[in-house]
Amino acid sequence: IIWQESVNLQLKASADTAVDAVQPKSQFLAQMSHEIRTPINAVIGMNEMILRECRDATITKYANNVATASETLLSLINDILDFSKIESGKMELVEEIYHLDELIENLVNMIRPRAEKKNLEFKVEVDETIPNELFGDSVRIRQVVVNFLTNAVKYTQVGRVTFIVSKEDKSADEIMLHFSVKDTGIGIRDEDKQKLFHDFERFDSKKNKNIEGTGLGLAITSKLVNMMKGSIDVASTYGEGSTFTVILPQKVMGTDTVGSFEQKMEAAPSKQEVYKVSFIAPEAKILVVDDNEMNLLVATSLLKATQIQVDTAMSGMSALKKMADKKYDLIFLDQMMPSLDGIQTLHLANKMEENKSKGVPMIALTANAISGAKEMFLKEGFTDYLSKPIDAKQMEAMLMTYLPIDKLHAPPKEDEVDEFDDIQQMIDDSFNQTDDQQDDINESFSNNDDSDKLPNLEYINVDLGMQYSAGMADMYKNILIMFCNLKDEKRIKIQEAFETEDWQNYTTLVHALKSTALSIGGEKTSEAAKQLELAGKMIISGSTSELEKQQGTEYIKEHHDEAMELYDKLVEDGRKLIDNL
Ligand code: ADP
Repeated sequence: IIWQESVNLQLKASADTAVDAVQPKSQFLAQMSHEIRTPINAVIGMNEMILRECRDATITKYANNVATASETLLSLINDILDFSKIESGKMELVEEIYHLDELIENLVNMIRPRAEKKNLEFKVEVDETIPNELFGDSVRIRQVVVNFLTNAVKYTQVGRVTFIVSKEDKSADEIMLHFSVKDTGIGIRDEDKQKLFHDFERFDSKKNKNIEGTGLGLAITSKLVNMMKGSIDVASTYGEGSTFTVILPQKVMGTDTVGSFEQKMEAAPSKQEVYKVSFIAPEAKILVVDDNEMNLLVATSLLKATQIQVDTAMSGMSALKKMADKKYDLIFLDQMMPSLDGIQTLHLANKMEENKSKGVPMIALTANAISGAKEMFLKEGFTDYLSKPIDAKQMEAMLMTYLPIDKLHAPPKEDEVDEFDDIQQMIDDSFNQTDDQQDDINESFSNNDDSDKLPNLEYINVDLGMQYSAGMADMYKNILIMFCNLKDEKRIKIQEAFETEDWQNYTTLVHALKSTALSIGGEKTSEAAKQLELAGKMIISGSTSELEKQQGTEYIKEHHDEAMELYDKLVEDGRKLIDNL
């Protein structure tokens, strides 16, 4: 017994030593992740501004190269971090319910432009009967499949890349999900196949000398697949091409199936080449807190196109002072700052009595990509979390989720005149119109020109709505939900203003309806609201004659009910769509 106890003590001591040895390593990783991500944030953010604002073709080309190189650098850092996390046993799976169609769509959207750039054909084949609602770690599944897909595009010079998703039934609530990526590329020699999943292993160094890579991707992939209790299969003929397949057990959570994928992909707009802001919010006020000037510049520059009023603070203390004085709609708070850090600032803000910004959404900004960070921030009381380098699209999506909906407006069309600035112009356009033009407007209310795409949705142009959400289904869904949830409240206000003939208020309300309806693709409702707004402006404008004011009032009285009906129908369709997104 004494011997056994002494062995146990020795074992414990060596286990402790091993744990201690890993500790500085993971601290070093957290630090390195932070230190490297901060300058990359500046590189990516500032370069994004060059791409947005520069019209010179040569400089844009340079900036595009900077963008590609910094993305590669970032994925390299992520790979090294992932690899070390797996090695030190710190990698954990985060399993939750996810929708397979969203995952596939996201993968296809990411790879298609890369394949097109190399003139490769990109085919997608999805078994329509696969259950859509599954339980697993979709982030890691995505990582595995992205690696297969990017390799297929990287190592194929001519021909085709085919992405196949299928399933095998296992039991009533479990399937084996198959993702296969087939290419017509250089292929892999038999003797190299068993080394494919070794760390830092790359083949054909002569042929591949211009192809970027570390040889870590597949090593990480195979470790992740092991963690998910799946398997990988590689079939390849040297000189002809390869097929990489991953098979993963997944729990089935619902009866819906993914359905016809082609149809869904057709409905999604193609990726925009030129940056276009997804919304504007000139009345919204936000505060960005970061101790690094460059980071503040990146965040404010990226927000410029949204027209949001941005205040900045360089320390927790100065942020608290600003919050005491002003009601912000949202606050981005950097995590790592000298003296008060992000978490301490948040806690103090919650305790502070004089705080005009109490309870507003607080988003943590962090360059620390170590696992578990998100959960930790939410537990500390943050509303959400955004990692650096800031992704402009992600930041816009977050603002659309958390800013008050009445401050969000559809971005102006490039050729649209500013109606508030030029009332006379509006009056000319709208009320000097001929009967024919009026008929056109009336006809457009009842015309259903989207019927061939989405036969059930007469009042929503899904393509347009998706475009306003920068092609992101999640963002679109959030906006739809907000739009529908707010309807009753808004509808009552418009009705009250109508009945009390408060045209000032009425005009403001239908103006908001015009843009919010348009941002979900509700063209007809938006158009009807626009006409009401024009009429309202005629009534309240100081420069219109009595007769014109009377015409404005008559127009509203005649068309108000019709527009409200369109509003109701839009929300009805919106609710149907939410269930299908
Ligand atoms: P990387 O692509 O970063 O070098 P990976 O671990 O993803 O690293 O791949 C390791 C090696 O396997 C690659 O360097 C390449 O030689 C080979 N390889 C991977 N995928 C393919 C493919 N689809 N066709 C041909 N060779 C491939």
